[in-house]
Amino acid sequence: TALLQRFHKNEQRCALQYEEALKAKEEIQTREKLHEDFVHMATHELKAPVTVLKAYLQLAEMKLKSTENKSDLEAKSVLSSFLDLASKMNFQLDKLVALINDLLESTRIKAGSLNCQMAVFDLTRCLNDCVEGFKAAQPEAKIDCNFPAEDIKVNGDEVRIEQVILNLLSNAVKYSPQRADVQVHCERVDDTIVVRVKDSGMGIPADMLGSVFDRFVRVKTPEMSKFPGLGLGLYICAEIIKVHGGEIQVESVLGQGSDFWFSLPVHKLG
Ligand code: ADP
Repeated sequence: TALLQRFHKNEQRCALQYEEALKAKEEIQTREKLHEDFVHMATHELKAPVTVLKAYLQLAEMKLKSTENKSDLEAKSVLSSFLDLASKMNFQLDKLVALINDLLESTRIKAGSLNCQMAVFDLTRCLNDCVEGFKAAQPEAKIDCNFPAEDIKVNGDEVRIEQVILNLLSNAVKYSPQRADVQVHCERVDDTIVVRVKDSGMGIPADMLGSVFDRFVRVKTPEMSKFPGLGLGLYICAEIIKVHGGEIQVESVLGQGSDFWFSLPVHKLG
């Protein structure tokens, strides 16, 4: 019996080890799949603006070459269409730089070194600046604002908070393909300031509401896949708000719109 007992014990230990090995293998496979998905998504997103840039450059080269042996007047018209192409190339380059910045930022966050320079600033003015700047860049978007008349001081990194506001605004417009009708509200609740960016766009499926702030998470509906992105913007926003001691959340109904809000502690004088 002693031999039999030892045999059973060994058998149980082997079964346990086998189960652990299986689990480890599954984990490695999941990680590999995530890594593969990420490389696929990142290369696809980075390739898109590069491909457009290359086409513009080829066109510009052809146009410039065609000015040889042309009159001054014709050369001038080529020059003006070249300038138009240059501004389109700039736009694509900006997109590329923004994608690369997001990737760099997310690795910095992962390494635990999100850089924030804290100072007291007026959030109402910051919100107004963001909305004005955004409207100038995207005049087709309709943005309604409702901000308190008085200054609201917060202690934080103004550039980072601007980054959060602009990210929420650009998502609200990007994911409202029919009608970019966005409302930005700011309200003081006791010692907290709450900023809301509300759209009436595509909305987010209920089962995704908990994960849209995670790294590389994007809603995978066929409609959503038409929009470019790496799934990093909200992750970066959430990390910035966390460093500031605030909270960021979303409420959304699929097909009706989304309501993103974040809170920050109001700076107390003295
Ligand atoms: P990206 O827009 O680059 O994919 P984000 O991290 O900003 O990355 O957003 C993550 C995902 O959350 C998006 O891919 C999109 O599916 C969803 N999302 C974000 N904002 C909105 C919005 N205002 N309306 C609908 N879906 C949104």
